[in-house]
Amino acid sequence: MSVMNAPSATRAPVDIPIGPAKMLINNEWVTAQSGKTFATINPATEELITEVPDADLRDVELAVAAARRAFDGGAWRKMSASERGRLMFKLADLIEANKEELARLETLDNGKPLNDSLNADLPLTIACYRYYAGWADKIQGKTIPINGPFFCYTRHEPVGVCAQIIPWNFPLLMQAWKWGPALAAGCTVVMKVAEQTPLSALRVAELALEAGYPPGVINVLTGQGPTAGAPLARHMDVDKVAFTGSTEVGHEIMKASAESNLKRVTLELGGKSPNIVFADTDLDKAADGAHFALFFNQGQCCCAGSRLYVEESVHEEFVAKVVERARNRKVGDPFANETEQGPQVDKAQFDKVLKYIEYGNQDGANMLCGGGRKSDRGYFIEPTVFDNVDEDMRIGKEEIFGPVLSVLSFKNVDDVIQRANKNLYGLAAAVWTRDIEKAHRVANEVRAGTVWVNCYDVFDAAAPFGGYKLSGIGRELGEYGLANYTEIKTVTVKL
Ligand code: NAP
Ligand code: MG
Repeated sequence: MSVMNAPSATRAPVDIPIGPAKMLINNEWVTAQSGKTFATINPATEELITEVPDADLRDVELAVAAARRAFDGGAWRKMSASERGRLMFKLADLIEANKEELARLETLDNGKPLNDSLNADLPLTIACYRYYAGWADKIQGKTIPINGPFFCYTRHEPVGVCAQIIPWNFPLLMQAWKWGPALAAGCTVVMKVAEQTPLSALRVAELALEAGYPPGVINVLTGQGPTAGAPLARHMDVDKVAFTGSTEVGHEIMKASAESNLKRVTLELGGKSPNIVFADTDLDKAADGAHFALFFNQGQCCCAGSRLYVEESVHEEFVAKVVERARNRKVGDPFANETEQGPQVDKAQFDKVLKYIEYGNQDGANMLCGGGRKSDRGYFIEPTVFDNVDEDMRIGKEEIFGPVLSVLSFKNVDDVIQRANKNLYGLAAAVWTRDIEKAHRVANEVRAGTVWVNCYDVFDAAAPFGGYKLSGIGRELGEYGLANYTEIKTVTVKL
């Protein structure tokens, strides 16, 4: 059976035949109960790629029921932990064997350069499944020496049926971050993929079928936030919801949990991460780092280094370097080998980013390059740099999620730490310096879930990631991420 490879008149600009996609419930490829579909668009050309099912409450009910059955009894429940791990290794191998096709699909649907899909998204995705495959048979409790004639131990049990709602900026990778720990722990999942980028997740689901997951263990819904995501977050038979996306929807997810069954909630939300450059650093390396920190993935990273703090004494020199790099960034066809930046993911994001460029000009920041649309077709935006930004301007405090860099100036380490923390978000931060004292002071005092020193965007499946403050609740990746998919049970036996 093949969903994605069904013969069709619609063809990608690359060699991937794409048919009308279906979604996966209980190991069956299905249309929405309503029969409705919606379009997924190629953001580089604004053309239709294909239609996918528009899931609503009725489909959510079917998917949750399938996940519940798989969790409560049957093959998944009886499967040994090492067998669960073996299935995950198999899925990782299948993804690796199909990585070219998956990378093309990701680029087609999302717009990110093919080189990035191939060299960043796919390797990180595969590594994440392998990392968690290794955990499957190493999840264990403790024996606890309590007072009295008792034997006390803990079991780390799977939390149950997990709703997983993911965004469009790293579709394959966000699926891996969510499926990895859930499947290793022995949970079952109902995933709602982002409406802009449903295709690669469906192809991975097809590979999971090939790997041999029992019915109901993984279910993938294509649908929209309010009609498919919201009922999933509110469902009484869902034990946990894991969400990545905007802080605004993060509030809705918590509310849905509070107003239903107090399901466990983990949230990975927005950011406005400070990237701090001290005068003593290697300015060329730091300028490369600052460029990458903001412009990677079209600026569509929750941890983007979007507040660039530069020490006063090197401000002018450093900003010149940053502007030069932005001006030279190659924007265009994401399938072309030389391309560094593709289109924004859709019209809504494109409009939002252009609106923030207007705000920057209105609020008195100094636009040094970029500022407009890049071509008359596709959602391309020029790499844009604003200088003289401060923390009260909209571009200095709100998440833009596009190729727009805000540069601020600082006096000394006390000044910059206080200002770096002057934001509602706390996802990531970075510091560039040769002075070990400054590096550690910033690392300790910045309120953020990740701090990079003399580097940026270094990710590894073993290292936890998540936010302070409005950037979220809980951690993903590593053993902390896994812990969010288990319940701890205490068993006490009288001796
Ligand atoms: P979003 O609405 O938060 O989307 C994230 C996911 O949540 C999508 O699957 C979305 O479905 C779903 N969703 C939307 N409303 C929901 C609801 N009421 N209940 C349950 N699920 C719901 O984000 P967006 O609109 O795509 O982007 C808006 C802004 O969010 C961006 O400009 C950026 O600032 C931020 N963002 C952050 C991240 C991140 O990695 N932290 C990722 C993406 C966006 P639909 O696809 O149907 O909307
Ligand atoms: Mg799309």
